[in-house]
Amino acid sequence: MNESSIFTLERGGAPLLISIPHRGTSIPCALADEMTPIAKLTEDCDWHLERLYAFARELGASILTPQYARYVVDLNRPPDDANLYPGRDTTGLCPVDTFDKAPLYKPGHEPSREQIDARRAMYWQPYHDALASELDALRASHGRVLLWEAHSIRSVVPRFFDGRLTDFNFGTADGASAAPGLAEYLAGIVERDGRFSTVANGRFKGGYITRRYGEPEKGVHAVQLELTQISYMEESSPFAYDEAKATAIQPLLRELLISAMTYATAA
Ligand SMILES: [Zn+2]
Repeated sequence: MNESSIFTLERGGAPLLISIPHRGTSIPCALADEMTPIAKLTEDCDWHLERLYAFARELGASILTPQYARYVVDLNRPPDDANLYPGRDTTGLCPVDTFDKAPLYKPGHEPSREQIDARRAMYWQPYHDALASELDALRASHGRVLLWEAHSIRSVVPRFFDGRLTDFNFGTADGASAAPGLAEYLAGIVERDGRFSTVANGRFKGGYITRRYGEPEKGVHAVQLELTQISYMEESSPFAYDEAKATAIQPLLRELLISAMTYATAA
């Protein structure tokens, strides 16, 4: 295990890296003083994904998780903070409000350009350096590698989408970040399972990490799974893990990971 105060990287032997960039919940003390009480609850976290995906260690997956919350700096946003979904509302590199638009900072304490630059250097860059070097190492060993961007979100967030979100949202940047047909292939597996709704490159097409690192022509195949949290946990505070739901969904996640890895490394 490679551990810093910024991230944890557990290294496995398979051509599979699972990145969970929104799993962090820590907020540095000095920054917490500038923030509102609701910010410290980190409600927009991709809760419990390290637990839901714990089985992937047996598959030989490497697993990368950050320490700090997306409210400090969002690891799945580009360093220049360009909007990944032009024309749609989104949260930025250093968000100033929650998904429900509650302010994260006390009035007048929103981060300055200099503070954003400092956070990018301190928290964003080390995660990306670790991600890039692990992909390089796995590609050197195996020739091809699957990057699985693991995300989850509440099933109802009016700011981002109408109604209830599809459960399994596979994103490959409209096919650019992985072997042709991979997202549709994975959605087909969920359809055959029959218990959950699914879509390929729908509302969520993959964020910055999927788009930046997915280079199928160079052997790196990136796919993002945005999963509804209602599929494995309670969506309201205290955001409890639902052991029964999680145990029921894990065999499907396992099939998806194995199938995606096989598909990507054969491409
Ligand atoms: Zn996420």
